[in-house]
Amino acid sequence: MSEKQYKKAAQIIVKAGMLPFPITDTLLEIVKLLYTEEEAEFIIKAFKRRVSQTLDQLKSTTELPEEEILRHVTSLAKKGALFDQPNSKGVRVYRLLPLIMVGIFEYVFMRKVEYTEKEKKMAKLFDELFDELEDIVQERYDMFLPGFKKIPPIDRTVPFHENIEGEEITIKVDQEVEAPEENVLTADNIEDIINKFDDITVAHCFCRQHQDLLGNSCEVTDMRENCFTFGKSARFVAEQGFGRKISKEEALEILQKSEEAGLVHKAYHPHGKIDRDETSVCNCCKDCCGTFNLWKQGILPMINATNFLSDIDQEICIGCGTCVEECPVDAIELNENNKAERNPEWCIGCGICAHFCPESAISLIEGARKVFVPPPKLRD
Ligand code: SF4
Ligand code: SF4
Ligand code: SF4
Repeated sequence: MSEKQYKKAAQIIVKAGMLPFPITDTLLEIVKLLYTEEEAEFIIKAFKRRVSQTLDQLKSTTELPEEEILRHVTSLAKKGALFDQPNSKGVRVYRLLPLIMVGIFEYVFMRKVEYTEKEKKMAKLFDELFDELEDIVQERYDMFLPGFKKIPPIDRTVPFHENIEGEEITIKVDQEVEAPEENVLTADNIEDIINKFDDITVAHCFCRQHQDLLGNSCEVTDMRENCFTFGKSARFVAEQGFGRKISKEEALEILQKSEEAGLVHKAYHPHGKIDRDETSVCNCCKDCCGTFNLWKQGILPMINATNFLSDIDQEICIGCGTCVEECPVDAIELNENNKAERNPEWCIGCGICAHFCPESAISLIEGARKVFVPPPKLRD
């Protein structure tokens, strides 16, 4: 297959996602490592115009026999390059997945990694790709900023409800925290989310496994198997062997351990629409989480939906610095009086600070907000 054809396939794969990856040598290497020539050719034939198609549509777009189409879609789904689940009318739809959010990156590192040379190479190539993306965004920062503001929330924080002593974290209502009209009430208790679904799978944390392969193992936790998917996504994950089906009881046990490790519960909704049922819940660490790191690396803004904001009682605060250390988005600092101060613009209302504060000096204020923090401008 010619270089030109691989480039064509790469462009189609990139177009299926939201990040503007340039077609660089690194990206082409990822594509060549992951897709066979036959699969790349099939992608060009099948998904040039539409990323989602039924079998009948694929037959007419590609003019290939049904068996050949099924062979390709089966192998692509197996590697996490294609989502193949029935729609609400029961018709199976084949959707080409992008490189990331949610696509190849997530699925490749979601199975338990075996530290093969191929996996290590893939991890390194993705790391290089993120560096290239950083260059692009930083060099054209002002051009990207208006577009960033239109992105819907990437995730929604579901807060901790108990502190390390097992006591309920105080939740206050503050009229000054206005609820934007588009926000609706959603499950704010992680147990309520788990209880909504019959199909639940758990898979390995792809961010931590990506860092493991790079030799930067997580310093926050040893937990790896703690990413949940629900409903249709769960069925896909289980069918393709990316994760395993679990009971609600096991899910709650894993969540309990995640809380003990101080991991942030983040819920993901289809297209960022928080009035729709969750597709997945992650338990994130500040070391490895991709959404935190893409923001810190200056590639993407932090865009989060939350119903909470932390509130620190400085009369009680003893300035121990635990909350500063634990906050996943660096929203707390100690001021000149050695008291903790929280930046309201950055706080995603996760409650980690309240969970770990030894003096119970932190509570949560209820009120729906969208947090938007632009990526830092790292260059002049
Ligand atoms: S988003 Fe969080 S839990 Fe999910 S894979 Fe990344 S760090 Fe792990
Ligand atoms: S953890 Fe509590 S006591 Fe320690 S600095 Fe933060 S608010 Fe103050
Ligand atoms: S200050 Fe940090 S740790 Fe506390 S709720 Fe806000 S984001 Fe979470």
